[in-house]
Amino acid sequence: MSAVLLDGRRIAAGIRDQVKLRASKLRERDVVPACAIVLIEGDEPGRLYTAQIAKSAAPLGVNIEIRQLAAGASTQDVVAAVASIVDDPRIQAIMVQRPLPPGLDAERIAEEIDPRKDVDGAHPYNQGLLVAGETFFAPATAAAVMELLRQPGVPALEGARAIVLGRSAVVGRPVALLLTAANATVTICHSHTRDLADVARQGDILVAAVGRPNFVVASMVRPGATVIDVGTNFVDGRFVGDVDFEGVSKVAGLITPVPGGVGPVTTAVLLRSIVEAAERAR
Ligand code: NAP
Repeated sequence: MSAVLLDGRRIAAGIRDQVKLRASKLRERDVVPACAIVLIEGDEPGRLYTAQIAKSAAPLGVNIEIRQLAAGASTQDVVAAVASIVDDPRIQAIMVQRPLPPGLDAERIAEEIDPRKDVDGAHPYNQGLLVAGETFFAPATAAAVMELLRQPGVPALEGARAIVLGRSAVVGRPVALLLTAANATVTICHSHTRDLADVARQGDILVAAVGRPNFVVASMVRPGATVIDVGTNFVDGRFVGDVDFEGVSKVAGLITPVPGGVGPVTTAVLLRSIVEAAERAR
């Protein structure tokens, strides 16, 4: 058996077309959708990700302003940077690149973001709405996973057994909440889970977000399952996922590649959220 590829680049292109159209409608009313991204110097994956966002945004008519703070920036420095963006009426969206360096108070910083500008769903208010099943802005990666699972040809989420590997605030937990809201039956696994392979094998849907290269092998996957690989691990000069693509694609029904799966959809979904924030702010 050979899995069908869920092509993130193609799906992202479709989302970007919609973003471009919506941005052009805003520009007709003299509104320029704009997002400021706070980045701490030295965060190399963050720098690459934000550069990718800026590159994708420019041809769509969406402005990205990267506010880079010095490597030793304090919580108060980051809070002050966020506060100045909140007060800027030209900027309808804010993202603070995560994970923040150790020692910074991520909760305090997230609290400073205006929930209406919080396109990466970091503010406790937006996290609360997610828990209540009334999403306003979800973290972009989690929203991208749902976008992939809602593509034509993907088996229905309703009633499906979904296994999420990882429980971070940025990926695993929000994915589990969004799947629950979509009427899937969800199990979250983490580093304390017993018999993880047995649990994983029960999934009609398996979402891998553990940050360990090739963690998911074929024997952990139910034949025909939909496998979404969130992992982006830099190994020997290239990105590899959390899923052993070669082995698992012989068992799964549908699978996302790395690169070219969740990553490009995440960027596109973030751009869509920026346009949404600008539309709401009018
Ligand atoms: P994270 O904060 O490090 O969380 C990893 C999760 O995996 C934790 O819940 C951890 O369990 C669990 N875990 C780690 N080792 C495990 C093991 N041996 N067995 C079972 N569970 C284990 O990572 P993250 O921020 O969620 O990111 C996960 C992956 O997604 C990374 O590769 C990251 O680069 C990638 N990512 C991709 C995108 C994208 O747009 N494509 C965006 C964000 C992140 P505990 O909670 O028990 O520690």
